[in-house]
Amino acid sequence: MAPPGVGSSTQKRPSVASTADNDIVVLDGGFATQLSCHVSQQIDGDVLWSARFLATDKEAVIDAHLDFLRAGADLVMTNSYQASIGGFVEHLHLTKEESYDLIKESVALARTACERYQKEFPNSPAPMIVGSVGPYGASLHDGSEYSGSYAKSTPVDTMRQWHIPRIKALVEAGVDLLALETIPCRIEAEMLVDLLKKEFPDTKAWLAFSVSQDGKSLAYGENFQETARHCYEMNPSQLVAVGVNCVAPRLVESFISGINKDRRNPIPLVVYPNSGESYKVELGWIDRDKCEPVDTYVQRWLDLGVTWVGGCCRTYATDVSRIRHEVEKWKRTKSDKTCQNGQCVQK
Ligand SMILES: [Zn+2]
Repeated sequence: MAPPGVGSSTQKRPSVASTADNDIVVLDGGFATQLSCHVSQQIDGDVLWSARFLATDKEAVIDAHLDFLRAGADLVMTNSYQASIGGFVEHLHLTKEESYDLIKESVALARTACERYQKEFPNSPAPMIVGSVGPYGASLHDGSEYSGSYAKSTPVDTMRQWHIPRIKALVEAGVDLLALETIPCRIEAEMLVDLLKKEFPDTKAWLAFSVSQDGKSLAYGENFQETARHCYEMNPSQLVAVGVNCVAPRLVESFISGINKDRRNPIPLVVYPNSGESYKVELGWIDRDKCEPVDTYVQRWLDLGVTWVGGCCRTYATDVSRIRHEVEKWKRTKSDKTCQNGQCVQK
């Protein structure tokens, strides 16, 4: 039996190496969102967000990963977005060593989910394990990854020293790839790309920005396309893709459209928006009924050169199923299209 949304259980699954051939990779969805189907405690609003469940409910973490794999995701992203040594020491009362090990365990739990999945579908190739690396601002627990305001007051070396051990733990635990994600400001993005080169030269990553509502700027205000191109040029051999995440789907096109104009080697693009709902601290997520689901936009994004596509906050495994369906549909019609500079149009 094939997993839902996947044409056949023997279907070739993209790997980090094969993505260079423009394979389309289907990401998973919002981890905390799917986790909420398996736990009764509140996740949004927790100072450690979903990372707390690495310590308190390991089976729920594995189940949430499994939901995405069964829905047709090519990869799982570790439950480490908001995990940090300092955060675990302060809020879980662990030692530094125990905190480091708990970050490593996020990879072990993702691996267990992949192994269980492969037991269910023995002919299915191994999913990729992607280490989620959220921004420094996520640890401040004041929503500043959506404004980048800490870029003004935080020395870049403070951010660097904060990131090093958490990335080291993920790499040491054997991730296939890192997701440097929801990065709201240029200074942190450049630091991370540089850090990758200097400290983790054998590790590949994608870089996804947190962006503003204006369709062209990073959350902190710098120009998105200019910053994305610059960061990619700093380290094209280690960056598998650059793009946006946790933005409303309706805004995605204005960010990525034209980014590869006049480029001989198009930048591979990664896109994984949220559901388009708004988050209000006092009310939680609102206006779901006003949003077009993510899958509605997938064909258009693939035409614009996106090769990594999935969902972020408030997207469930069912959304991943629908995204997978749209990707398969697009691949079937690709021979009817002419693609140039990463963009495809009907012949
Ligand atoms: Zn998100």
